[in-house]
Amino acid sequence: MWTNRQATTADAVPERLVVIGGGVVACETATAWRSLGSSVTLLVRDQALLTGWEPCAGEEVTRGLGDLGVTIRFGVSAVRVARDGTTRAVTVETDDGTTLVCDEVLAAVGRRPRTVGLGLETVGLPGGDWLTVDDTCRVTAAEGDWLYAVGDVNRRAPLTHMAKYQARACAAAIAERAAGRPAVTGGRQPWSAEADRFAVPQAVFTRPEVASVGLTERAAREAGLAVRAVEYRVDDVAGAALHADDYRGFAKLVVDETRGVVVGCTLTGPMATELIHTATVAVVGEVPLERLWHAVPAFPTVSEIWLRLLEAYGL
Ligand SMILES: Cc1cc2nc3c(=O)[nH]c(=O)nc-3n(C[C@H](O)[C@H](O)[C@H](O)COP(=O)(O)OP(=O)(O)OC[C@H]3O[C@@H](n4cnc5c(N)ncnc54)[C@H](O)[C@@H]3O)c2cc1C
Repeated sequence: MWTNRQATTADAVPERLVVIGGGVVACETATAWRSLGSSVTLLVRDQALLTGWEPCAGEEVTRGLGDLGVTIRFGVSAVRVARDGTTRAVTVETDDGTTLVCDEVLAAVGRRPRTVGLGLETVGLPGGDWLTVDDTCRVTAAEGDWLYAVGDVNRRAPLTHMAKYQARACAAAIAERAAGRPAVTGGRQPWSAEADRFAVPQAVFTRPEVASVGLTERAAREAGLAVRAVEYRVDDVAGAALHADDYRGFAKLVVDETRGVVVGCTLTGPMATELIHTATVAVVGEVPLERLWHAVPAFPTVSEIWLRLLEAYGL
């Protein structure tokens, strides 16, 4: 059974690959191995890909994977996997009673913290669990200012760039405290990794690309924010046609109506992963929409999506 390690290091292309999962790793690896020639089947327990993202993200990636020739089966879970010792073929049994035969199976269903055997028990912390930290990445359950945890293990934002951001904040906090200052948080100090909570940019390298920052409309509502969302097709922007004849993309902006600022953005399509940083600046900077209106995107660029979204919002 492949994990993400084999999926990113294997040096031979399996003829038939079954990917279990419907999240980012499943979608990216399905795209990559299909592009390398594998016949790929995705087994997705849910009824959509990329649940937790804006619905348009999963819909666009479903269409893109279909165009690539990936078979996607929704609402299906693998219940048994066995490799034949002679033929080396793998049989995957599913909970709808069907059986698939393939050459490799990739489990892309999440990761667990590897905190067993680190001696955490000796300081009263359970091994095998995530490490909860405050905004300076200090482990809250450990007494004193000496134990910090950055990266996936604190479960705040399991992404490389956020791990690097946390490491910068954590180092600044340690230096601040070593200098005898308290490293208080809450005001955008360099030792506060607070963007973890409201402005995490994410990029999905599928075809089309997907990128997002901040909250989805649903997450914002669940957090009690009074939000209004606007959507616009990126291919209707003049710069899209200049970029590619068959440009296809989607944009969604989530606006906190109380404060008049952007709290979330999702983009799909070519360069979505590059375009998202503009939205990150708007979210982190809490730029009022009326002010954002004066950030005029050049014609004819794809960035004019900002103009269209603000118009759609009613500015
Ligand atoms: C397939 C895949 C694709 C991804 N793509 C992206 C992407 O495009 N962009 C992005 O931002 N993020 C991506 N991620 C997420 C990203 O890999 C992680 O968020 C990032 O690696 C977290 O860094 P980390 O240092 O916390 O953990 P890791 O990178 O997992 O590093 C932990 C290190 O600790 C070591 N270690 C473990 N136990 C011990 C021990 N007892 N003693 C000593 N060392 C130990 C491990 O060997 C490892 O080297 C992807 C993840 C996967 C699985």
